[in-house]
Amino acid sequence: MQPFRRRDFMAAGAAFLTSRTLFAQNPPVADRRILIQDLVLANHILAAQGIVDGFGHVSVRLEAERYLLSRSLAPASVAAADIIEYNLDSNPVAPETRGSYKERFIHGEIYRARPDVMSIVHCHAASLIPFGITKIPLQPVYHMSSFVGEGVPVFEIREESANTDMLVSTPALGRALAKTLGNKPAALMRGHGAVIVGPSIIEAVSRAVYLEVNARVQAQAMALGKDITYLSPAEVKNRDGNSDADRSWNLWKQQAAQNAK
Ligand SMILES: [Zn+2]
Repeated sequence: MQPFRRRDFMAAGAAFLTSRTLFAQNPPVADRRILIQDLVLANHILAAQGIVDGFGHVSVRLEAERYLLSRSLAPASVAAADIIEYNLDSNPVAPETRGSYKERFIHGEIYRARPDVMSIVHCHAASLIPFGITKIPLQPVYHMSSFVGEGVPVFEIREESANTDMLVSTPALGRALAKTLGNKPAALMRGHGAVIVGPSIIEAVSRAVYLEVNARVQAQAMALGKDITYLSPAEVKNRDGNSDADRSWNLWKQQAAQNAK
């Protein structure tokens, strides 16, 4: 057996330091794999629930300054191989020939502004549109969408630029949207759709689903009459952290799988 030489010791030390550095830059491979699995699932769930159609997207934060998002593709068609890693400038981290979503700046700029946000959904759900183009605010109609009571501001893209195609297709427009969102769970985008954020991918998807339900139910209630009882601030506060989002996620997962058959 060869004696352990100084050169071997140095090489082993260098390898250890390299692995530590890599670990700091990238989460363990298993975590990354699970995040990608969940992100693919989130795409399929949002499509199956009617929150996104051919358009719309969902991302998940990979680490402080990186996030994962599909290449430009209809969410129902997204597979693990379609996921691209972006930095907060919304540029792919590795050389990339595949197309990116034009509105990926929504994700990069919100992750930059909101360290608490781990996942972001952008959708064009039709039921949300009326509350962005009128002066009628979304209000919390039932317990599943109590987060609406924290406030859902409306992003007016004209305040940033009077000459856009409505898409958040630049870093400046992404920053303006993030500023409107502030510390809220969601923001409507006038004449366009919404952005919904969460402390986990399950929570972001759950909020996206129930935000859309809230809009439909609120519009139905308003059609019935003006005297509507919304959740009170105390009820909203008491619901905070009281979500059973996992239960819905597991059901939606089954439904998305059935839809894919
Ligand atoms: Zn959009």
